[in-house]
Amino acid sequence: MATEQSTASRNFSGYVRGVMPTVDSTLHALNHGHQHGATGGDVIIDIPGNTAQDENENTGGGTQNGGIGNATASLADLRIAGTWVEKIIPFVIVVLLKTLVDHRLGLIVLIGMFGTFLHFNGSLKRQVALKEKRNFFTLLVTMTFMPLNMLFIYYVFTEHQLQNCLILMKPNFDQIDIWNLFWIVGITDFIIKFITIAAKCLVTLLPKSWLGYKVRGKYYLFIEQCSQFYRLLPPVPVWCSYLSDDTYSHWILTYCLVFIYLIAKARTVFDRTLDVRKAWKNLFSDVQYGDIPNKEEMLAAGSSCPICQEDYDDPIMLHSCKHIFCEECVSIWFDRERTCPMCRAKIADDPSWKDGSTAAYLQFF
Ligand SMILES: [Zn+2]
Ligand SMILES: [Zn+2]
Repeated sequence: MATEQSTASRNFSGYVRGVMPTVDSTLHALNHGHQHGATGGDVIIDIPGNTAQDENENTGGGTQNGGIGNATASLADLRIAGTWVEKIIPFVIVVLLKTLVDHRLGLIVLIGMFGTFLHFNGSLKRQVALKEKRNFFTLLVTMTFMPLNMLFIYYVFTEHQLQNCLILMKPNFDQIDIWNLFWIVGITDFIIKFITIAAKCLVTLLPKSWLGYKVRGKYYLFIEQCSQFYRLLPPVPVWCSYLSDDTYSHWILTYCLVFIYLIAKARTVFDRTLDVRKAWKNLFSDVQYGDIPNKEEMLAAGSSCPICQEDYDDPIMLHSCKHIFCEECVSIWFDRERTCPMCRAKIADDPSWKDGSTAAYLQFF
């Protein structure tokens, strides 16, 4: 039996070496009793299939084990990170509370100014949309309250000479730390927004005979672009003063920082100049959204304007979709939307800031 087995193994070895000379390990396993259904010299073994399967199983098993190992390791890492965050949270809260308490007056003023801005910005936007039904009293109150608010802030903080920022000079601070920096810049930004809102109120108060409603969007846009441009400038002297403080570092380093700041700023200022120029040109261009429709087209359109639901007043037919509206109605519509109110065809360019609203973001840099 042993002789038969070894003969079979030798025959088989020869066969396999001929077919798959590289599978020596498989042969080794076969020589140790992996012969299924061997009767005498007949050996029926599906070597390539078995080998491949074994390899796949081995490889697959290895990867799976490795995957589970990695997942367990990353879960453990996450748990450690979570515990660390949990431990550090109370200290962060303590530092935050200390900052809040130390700067409570400054923070309350900033929050108050933000609330005031949100209220009057929303109010002005509503008044602009009301056209001839706008409330003169509300607009007058807004127009008066905004500069009064500014004067009040400058009066409360007289010692700091915050108004210097408006004429691009440094306010009066012994040393500007990061908190003072953001506070000064934030307050000045809100003041410029208040002046912007007051200027837009003035435009809104003008009678229709002086300035038609359909062209007001261009004026709101121009005021807003000028405001956004000017808001870029007051932070410059404050930031330069902060960055050039060489109490704790070498003057070369501070000058490098100022230089990097100015380069980055110059780019933003240049981009904004282009926006102001575009808004200025826009003031003198008359955008025609459509042509005057003929009688048949008017009959087909029905008797009333789809926007104001009243008889047509100076009707125009939009160029691309041929829908008809009052010229004023549709011009004011395109101060808020890009598309036709009936079919959503794209007609106008970006309507941002034409509705009388003022940008809420804070110009910190
Ligand atoms: Zn209308
Ligand atoms: Zn349309």
